[in-house]
Amino acid sequence: MRDIIIIGSGPAGFTAAIYAARAELKPLLIASSVEIGGELMNTTEVENFPGFPEGIMGPDLMAKLQAQAERFGTEVVYDDVVELELDGPVKRVTLGSGDVHEASALIYATGSAYRKLGLPEEEVLSGHGLSWCATCDGFFFRQKTIAVIGGGDSAMEEATFLTRFADKVYVVHRRDSLKASKIMQQRAFDNPKIEFIWNAEVTAIHGDGQVNGVTLRDTVTGEVRALDLDGLFVAIGNDPRTHLVHGKLDLTPEGTIAVEGRTSKTSIPGVFAAGDVIDPHYRQAVTAAGSGTVAALDAEHYLAALGNENAAEALLENEFAVVD
Ligand code: NAP
Repeated sequence: MRDIIIIGSGPAGFTAAIYAARAELKPLLIASSVEIGGELMNTTEVENFPGFPEGIMGPDLMAKLQAQAERFGTEVVYDDVVELELDGPVKRVTLGSGDVHEASALIYATGSAYRKLGLPEEEVLSGHGLSWCATCDGFFFRQKTIAVIGGGDSAMEEATFLTRFADKVYVVHRRDSLKASKIMQQRAFDNPKIEFIWNAEVTAIHGDGQVNGVTLRDTVTGEVRALDLDGLFVAIGNDPRTHLVHGKLDLTPEGTIAVEGRTSKTSIPGVFAAGDVIDPHYRQAVTAAGSGTVAALDAEHYLAALGNENAAEALLENEFAVVD
């Protein structure tokens, strides 16, 4: 049995691994079979991670974090967790391959998943002109007309990036002001290829096998109109990935895993959580990394206390053995 297993390969998971590995806990990090590296793998340039004054590409930053974790002895497994047993002193993790790993402590850092619009056409047209990842799919939209849905940093970043390929990028936002940071807003406003459509929501996506437009509803007047498009990118935020711990760990009303104050302690002793999966507000790469640090330190203290308890029990047993 191991000391610690970390689930998740974003900035929270790998930072927790760096700390746990340097504490000689020999962590096993489960990185998923497809989405290794978390959300930064779908990002272009990260300009706000301290220490990189020129910026760094998201995938490069993740590769560095992984290399740093491995340098100190983290073992990385590329598989998906299918089952978790968290009650009791032994935490059991079953993977898609059928392998079962056990540890005394577990850090859950599974991040968040792209939010969907909730329209029935989404399932059918995903990958056929409908995408959640500009860096993955932008290349297919050379000289096309496309739209990005959303008003946050992701939407601004995606729209700006997509102007490298597309002739025209609409940003469709449900209100008349953006949630995005000022610098990202300004960059989008200054881009001549970007046009904003305010107070609009997508009520239907059109296309028979390939996106060719959307229906927009004005959120103020209720007016409905059609917009012809070659592609649609959805960038309306993320939801914490908690499906594996539903009914096992307490959640907050926002759907994130509940932790005790500023710690990473969940409702089960020995189970810690970090990153976007506990954070409904800040959700930055650097705050996730900080949160991973907290989880590793909390786990380290837990394991030390457990070690002391076990040592005390062993001592007591020995004393009785002597009396016998
Ligand atoms: P976000 O900040 O939660 O913004 C989501 C946007 O989508 C909001 O404008 C929201 O509208 C809109 N929205 C939500 N649900 C919708 C729906 N069902 N239909 C239509 N619109 C909907 O999410 P995000 O932009 O993905 O950013 C997440 C976090 O990552 C943020 O903390 C952000 O700062 C960070 N991030 C940072 C960078 C960077 O610094 N380079 C890049 C990307 C993301 P309302 O405004 O009306 O709520």
